Amino acid sequence: MVMIQFQNVTQRFTDGTVAFTNLSFNIEDGELVLITGPSGSGKTTILNLLIKEYQPVSGDITMDGQSLREIKPKQLPLHRRKIGAVFQDCKLIEELNVWENIAMPLVIQGQSLPSIEERVTDLLSLVQLTSKALMFPKQLSGGEAQRISIARALATGPSVIFADEPTGNLDAKTAHHIINLLKKINELGTTLIIATHDPVIIKEIKAKHVDLEAADSEEICSDLTANLAEKAHKKEVQPQAIVKAIKKTTDTQEIKQEVNQEADQENELKKPVKLKIQPKKISGFAQKIQNKIKKLAMKSGKATTESDSQSKLKEKTKKNSAKS
Ligand code: ADP
Ligand code: MG
Repeated sequence: MVMIQFQNVTQRFTDGTVAFTNLSFNIEDGELVLITGPSGSGKTTILNLLIKEYQPVSGDITMDGQSLREIKPKQLPLHRRKIGAVFQDCKLIEELNVWENIAMPLVIQGQSLPSIEERVTDLLSLVQLTSKALMFPKQLSGGEAQRISIARALATGPSVIFADEPTGNLDAKTAHHIINLLKKINELGTTLIIATHDPVIIKEIKAKHVDLEAADSEEICSDLTANLAEKAHKKEVQPQAIVKAIKKTTDTQEIKQEVNQEADQENELKKPVKLKIQPKKISGFAQKIQNKIKKLAMKSGKATTESDSQSKLKEKTKKNSAKS
């Protein structure tokens, strides 16, 4: 059965950038599909359209037979729960440990502590990282962090996983492991979309291919370069800032954002390019998640602030280190 359908979808942004025109493809229930194309060809845009971050300017997108246009704002959380996203930079929350990161979507969903514990325990074992449950994202290798972000994406039982350049920051061997884990998840029944421009993955995975037109993106890229060059010429932005931004990332969207930010704050130009994460905001969010877990623990009669499975894990870790 067809799960996702793009019919003549065109996406043009308010600044005139065209991500793609008249894009059509089908994804079947349980299928594994590769979306390929160079940086800037619209891979991430497909994910953003699927989660209804924005509407396409023309064409229609359906999921499970329903046009996304019909989804009302109220129904959006339910729709988004069907799509688990995995990103190149993992997007784990630094202040939460591995266990809490995986539990996060379940806490937000308002699940009970026993069912959260059961689910997180299963997911940790699926990605074979039970021993890292109480570590923080900074203590993990790139491959481990990506496995945790896959576990988190699976937490609420989505019907499709969209992995957006999941191996972009990994060495070849680790990338191979991640791809095998994703394939295993697909074999267990979850539809899998992998957006990538990594030739190794493309060669390794025998799957249906949605190839975004390279020609279109070349046009977009050269447009962007011209745009930046013009800005630099008008001294709206310093050339070093452009070079820095381009070196830091190959994602044209990020480059654009960064360069615009730099142009906005002229006296900030001499400072190094800052990370786009806003620690304050995330801290508050992490705090909220931890408070909710604490409340759930108290509700289920547990005196400690940690959930039962977290403290069990701690004991196990202690015993193991005492043995060695
Ligand atoms: P990919 O993921 O294949 O690298 P993207 O989907 O991120 O490509 O972007 C496709 C094109 O659309 C790029 O030129 C990018 O700059 C542009 N783009 C993406 N999002 C926006 C946005 N919100 N506003 C303006 N342009 C955007
Ligand atoms: Mg992208």
